[in-house]
Amino acid sequence: MLQMQLTPSPIAATVDFAAPGVRHGFLRLPYSRDDAAWGSIMTPITVVNNGEGPTALLSGANHGDEYEGPIALFDLAARVRAEDVTGRIIIVPAMNYPAFAAGTRTSPIDRGNLNRSFPGRPDGTVTQKIADYFQRVLLPMADVVLDFHSGGKTLDFLPYCAAHVLPDKRQQAAAFDLVRAFGAPWSVKMLEIDAVGMYDTAAEEMGKTFVTTELGGGGTATARSAGIAKRGLTNLLIAAGVMRGEIAPQPTQWLDMPDEDCFTFAEDGGLIEFLADLGDRVDHGQPVARIFPVTRTGLAPVVVHARRAGLMMARHFPGIVKPGDCVAVIGVEVDE
Ligand SMILES: [Zn+2]
Repeated sequence: MLQMQLTPSPIAATVDFAAPGVRHGFLRLPYSRDDAAWGSIMTPITVVNNGEGPTALLSGANHGDEYEGPIALFDLAARVRAEDVTGRIIIVPAMNYPAFAAGTRTSPIDRGNLNRSFPGRPDGTVTQKIADYFQRVLLPMADVVLDFHSGGKTLDFLPYCAAHVLPDKRQQAAAFDLVRAFGAPWSVKMLEIDAVGMYDTAAEEMGKTFVTTELGGGGTATARSAGIAKRGLTNLLIAAGVMRGEIAPQPTQWLDMPDEDCFTFAEDGGLIEFLADLGDRVDHGQPVARIFPVTRTGLAPVVVHARRAGLMMARHFPGIVKPGDCVAVIGVEVDE
């Protein structure tokens, strides 16, 4: 363990994290392959430094097929001026760059799901090396961490900003303050079904104020969802004390995810017909979808029921579903 911690990361930044002003560069990871024996993975990064203040670490495309985050972050990197910043902003618009470049959730190099790869390894796969760099180099520099997600090709979400319920209530309150400032149409007290190896968990265990989003899905972004991402990003940076300006307050509806009954999974595969849409209120036991077996005609569809009453906040996106896929997520409307 001690030896692993002493192994330096193979990733080198071409930007100086302490230099004043706006710096655009790369995180360069050597990657020897058939078409480039001494090739590299070049992950774009922007660092903005202006005087004293907190550090915000901003990332998108932790999953490569989620686009609102990269849009908001490439946009910010292209227009940010040092004089607008009070402290430091580190922008990595596409965290799992090989996945982002391929338009896939996981890395085409090693099939690595970056958000299940933390704390990573400096001597591991490409995805593990990226995780290790965030774990040991970037996260320790940060006070506030915003990691954008969306549904990708296989899920669709009501657009929301979220933080986790944490044992440290001061850390939790700081995160929910930023969720409120972000001002997405929905704000979520988020429950994870699979928290092991997540970037979220790594940041929270380091005591960082961690905020995430799910801003849409289907493997694309809309004008509306990109607008929510850009406006929310600016609001969050102002609220975190990293950027000058006035917050543009937005109405938001809070949703809670009290337990695993929020999640409904398919037990059968086939053609899915949704009986409720995103944003619809459903009762406990209400049919939310039916799944037709497609190997022959004449078979009755299997009905999928909501396991609690609430608002449909996420759904499976493709028209074909496989056993074990998450069909729908039901959140509970709460006052903040
Ligand atoms: Zn994601």
